[in-house]
Amino acid sequence: MAHGGRKRVPLVVGNWKMFKTSAEGARFVRELGEELGDVDDREVMVAPAFTGLYEAAKAAEGTALSVAAQDVFWEWEGPYTGEVSATMLAALGVKAAIIGHSERRRYFGETDEAVAKKVWASLEQGLLPIMCVGETEEEREAGLTEEVLARQVPAGLASVQAQDERPMVIAYEPVWAIGTGKTATPEVARDVIRQVRCQVEKTLGAEAAQGVRILYGGSVGPDNIDRLMAQPGIDGVLVGGASLQLGSFVRIARYEKA
Ligand code: PEP
Repeated sequence: MAHGGRKRVPLVVGNWKMFKTSAEGARFVRELGEELGDVDDREVMVAPAFTGLYEAAKAAEGTALSVAAQDVFWEWEGPYTGEVSATMLAALGVKAAIIGHSERRRYFGETDEAVAKKVWASLEQGLLPIMCVGETEEEREAGLTEEVLARQVPAGLASVQAQDERPMVIAYEPVWAIGTGKTATPEVARDVIRQVRCQVEKTLGAEAAQGVRILYGGSVGPDNIDRLMAQPGIDGVLVGGASLQLGSFVRIARYEKA
């Protein structure tokens, strides 16, 4: 993952989780494209449910927006009922895949090993992996944040070679801040993201660590986006709840560093 020399273009990703029908998502993408037509110094993505990917990707054509999946399976095809492969996603025009979101780890038993296989499969099919890491509230209170990251980051990157040039993204999402309204302060987010970058450096080297984009996620909204994006080392945001309304997501995508 020799991302060295690659400019870390800011990235704003909206994770719609299990919200919006395909038609609602496509309409949102069209409106978002109109609202952000003049924005060219950052990347903006939305991640609909699998059922909305095709229409959303079609609606994003000809705009600067792109579409991500919320998950991906690591085999290309086979008897895996209910799963969707990176090959299938790429063929739809999907550009990225969120991997290891805490809701998948918590409700669907996603392990670090599964995350590593999904990261590898995405890279192989030309999808941008957006690998989520982060500690729970109990882990944070027990002072284990660094330890959790020191496990999740190298484990998730286990199949990536240091010299691999393909871009990838890591999202630091403290589990206690997701959907709770509690946000890490911009300073805490900055400091933990620094630790994440340190783990990437230990795993893949300094060049990769300087090139990888690291996002913050957890109750990001119009009120805190400018301060978060002003922090050095925060390369963007992964937004859940506040990405569902056009007005708030437009405001987030149009952040100005405070
Ligand atoms: C998320 O789902 O990745 C997320 C960060 O959610 P929220 O912004 O609602 O906390």
